[in-house]
Amino acid sequence: MSELAYKRTNVYEVADEKMMKEIFDYAEGYKTFLDAGKTEREVCQYVEEAAKAQGYKPFEFGMKLKAGDKVYYNNRGKNIYLIRIGKGDVAKDGIRIIASHIDSPRIDLKQVPLYETEGIAFGKTHYYGGIRKYQWAAIPLALHGTVVLANGTSLDVKIGDEANDPVFYISDLLPHLAAKQNAKPLGEAIGGEDLNIWFGNVPYTAAENDKDKTVKENLLRILKEKYGMEEADFLSAELSLVPAFNAKDIGFDRALIGAYGHDDRVCSYPAYTALFDEPSDERTVMVILADKEEIGSEGTTGMQCAIFTDLIDEIAASAGVSSAAVRAHSMCLSADVNAGYDPNYPEVCEKLNSAYISHGAGITKFTGARGKSGSNDANAEFVGYLRKLFNDNGVIWQTGEMGKVDVGGGGTVAKYIAKMNIDTIDIGVPVISMHSPYEVVSKADVYENYLAFRAFIK
Ligand code: MN
Ligand code: MN
Repeated sequence: MSELAYKRTNVYEVADEKMMKEIFDYAEGYKTFLDAGKTEREVCQYVEEAAKAQGYKPFEFGMKLKAGDKVYYNNRGKNIYLIRIGKGDVAKDGIRIIASHIDSPRIDLKQVPLYETEGIAFGKTHYYGGIRKYQWAAIPLALHGTVVLANGTSLDVKIGDEANDPVFYISDLLPHLAAKQNAKPLGEAIGGEDLNIWFGNVPYTAAENDKDKTVKENLLRILKEKYGMEEADFLSAELSLVPAFNAKDIGFDRALIGAYGHDDRVCSYPAYTALFDEPSDERTVMVILADKEEIGSEGTTGMQCAIFTDLIDEIAASAGVSSAAVRAHSMCLSADVNAGYDPNYPEVCEKLNSAYISHGAGITKFTGARGKSGSNDANAEFVGYLRKLFNDNGVIWQTGEMGKVDVGGGGTVAKYIAKMNIDTIDIGVPVISMHSPYEVVSKADVYENYLAFRAFIK
């Protein structure tokens, strides 16, 4: 092919022995991170500990920040900001921002979840984010979350990940009796109110009266004895069912990683490790691990919350410069995943403009649906800046859209940040089976994403 033509680079095709080792070693840290944090609360806690170990101190409003300061702001235990103040002029150079999210699609318990029928105790649920419901039946699920008890104290729950833990379950039909269900469209095979969690089967036979000899009563006694919980405590709880399995290498050559919640921990891990590992101290850098991206970036811990610009105001005030000037000169990588091209489903992708696994960090100039609607369409100048930056720093990258035009679409936090007058673009790792209980990414892409982030904040 002519040298004038464009061609993607397969990372594994060009990696030498040293780079292969770096890619595979980096993946081990990522897998540990994945298994330690399956909810935004757990990731927040994990990253706060990691930040403290790096010398980061908690930020308080009104604090005066100076060059060399490293601070974090843990927003309600579900969203964390890491900030490193550089030596440069923040009014002239702005802040380099990397924003990813740490919430993932899952199945949440309702506030009054418990019921019993035909001798089986169940939990009612309301799913969180975009899931294909049928994928969540007949797999082991773990229960994670936080319960605020009647006396106001909090209880953290994590059951189902350890080898000896019980797991939880959503049942599906046997093929022998599924003829009618099989005839339904896939999206209707299992409905939202069918995602009921199997919780128990042993009745409380020691009860004095017959009406209390129930499985639910036995379950309530177990909850009281083990966790000090009563049924009303579910009212003030956030409990989620997440896949019970942990991250594993996929394939004979171990090139890929299968895990729950790559979207978007696969960008969160490279974001904060790039900040910790990059020694240059010129730029002011902000790494954001946001919550609630999967349900529209709403709420106090989502990317639309004023906390984001409040923190920029604080940085500007510390330097004695205008916050508007800081924002006008800032740049942001909205670090989120994109759909990887899957040869098993070629009909949904357009081959020239798909992100391919193992072909490096994937830039998505625009998201949205039906004519780029609802998208932050980054300008050519910003793409051009990053193109040169990544090429100069040896980062392997590609571009890709989410699927064929008019087939579907999606959104990220990019548009909320761009709205604040900050040049923003989506970049991340191509994912196979996105939003399923077990998503797949390439180790090579996780590493190139990390290198891209390092180049950006250098
Ligand atoms: Mn995402
Ligand atoms: Mn998502």
